[in-house]
Amino acid sequence: MTTKNSDPPAGYAPEPGVDTLAIHAGQAPDPLTGAVAPPIYQTSTFAFDTPAQGARRFAGTEAGYIYTRIDNPTTRMLEDCVAALEHGTEGLATATGMAAVCTVLFSLLRSGDHVVATGTLYGPSRLVLENDFARFGVGSTFVDTGDLDAVERAFRPETKLLFLETPANPTLRLADLAACSALAARRGALVAVDNTFASPVLQRPLDHGAQITLHSTTKHINGHSDVVGGVIVARDPALLKTLRRGRTYLGGTMDPHQSWLTLRGLKTLPMRIRTSQESAIRLARQLEAQPAVARVFYPGLPSHPQFELARRQMDGPGSVIAFELKGGYDAGVTLLESLQLMTLAVSLGGVETLIEHPASMTHAGLGTADLAACGITAGLVRLAVGCESVDDLAADLERGLSALA
Ligand SMILES: *Cc1c(COP(=O)(O)O)cnc(C)c1O
Repeated sequence: MTTKNSDPPAGYAPEPGVDTLAIHAGQAPDPLTGAVAPPIYQTSTFAFDTPAQGARRFAGTEAGYIYTRIDNPTTRMLEDCVAALEHGTEGLATATGMAAVCTVLFSLLRSGDHVVATGTLYGPSRLVLENDFARFGVGSTFVDTGDLDAVERAFRPETKLLFLETPANPTLRLADLAACSALAARRGALVAVDNTFASPVLQRPLDHGAQITLHSTTKHINGHSDVVGGVIVARDPALLKTLRRGRTYLGGTMDPHQSWLTLRGLKTLPMRIRTSQESAIRLARQLEAQPAVARVFYPGLPSHPQFELARRQMDGPGSVIAFELKGGYDAGVTLLESLQLMTLAVSLGGVETLIEHPASMTHAGLGTADLAACGITAGLVRLAVGCESVDDLAADLERGLSALA
């Protein structure tokens, strides 16, 4: 692991490994009972000893809990664990990944501001900027953030935020985090990165100069396709205060039981990432050798135009692959109908391998022109590799592809 700039959790060597952090950071055994598993503080509110104490908590002069929309001990454990993995200082868990996205935008922007964002941003993230923040007078420009000159050209004097998603969904196009962050710093804008695809195991945007990293914990961090959620991580205390205020008033705070389930999934994040990534590398090579496949998009293949950038800024290429079938839309349907093990569903980062068709599903909200501009063709298929035995996945893919012959 690269060096941390935050203090290590108590009792650890200065740089604990990523598996150790995922299991222990923020989660010492319960001081009251010794319970090894974190307690679920399923409470909406917290009693004060005295009126004076209540006043101090509200004034912020005394640490302690007030009300679960603001802060909760179980949720705090999850936040501390993800913050440690992201090399941040504090996390803010949210009800969904979209609540994390909207909390960042709501907290930082005002009428007249402008946002530059990745064109292939997660569909609803793009739509909320284009439709809803536009209603409040916030402008946005969507560009290929893999092209630094295009990012620079999109900047305006009133640009306050550069919102990146890398690797982008579903094309696996990367943005150079260090170069984009340096550019934004020169222009006086903050950088927020949707780090959902990589997870903090493979990429830590704060180490590359971004101010905010966020996740849909629904994906890799929880990893079991059974809880939705999100988290925001930053380092700067003033920025964290602004984001915490925004989350409190927007109201999309994560629930304690949801936090507990997510903490449970998070413990195995590094090993799930290793397993699914190893399988993805093999499946990507298998796909590249197939005559029915026009192109494979995967940062772990030397054919990926940003293979070197991936090696520089990520600790691994991850477990999401996109590939384009020569037979277009019909070939995609045939393939999806022929699979027996891979599940036809949107989402990613779970233990189950999921496969979907972006043009008709996750990215159907984009018009034809935007789809084309983002490189999402009718024959593009997204494969989110899970943790099943790789031989079984390879055989299933072979079955699907042979149906196209
Ligand atoms: C799923 C996803 C989101 C939204 O998360 P939800 O938990 O579904 O609200 C945001 N960004 C990316 C990259 C995602 O994959």
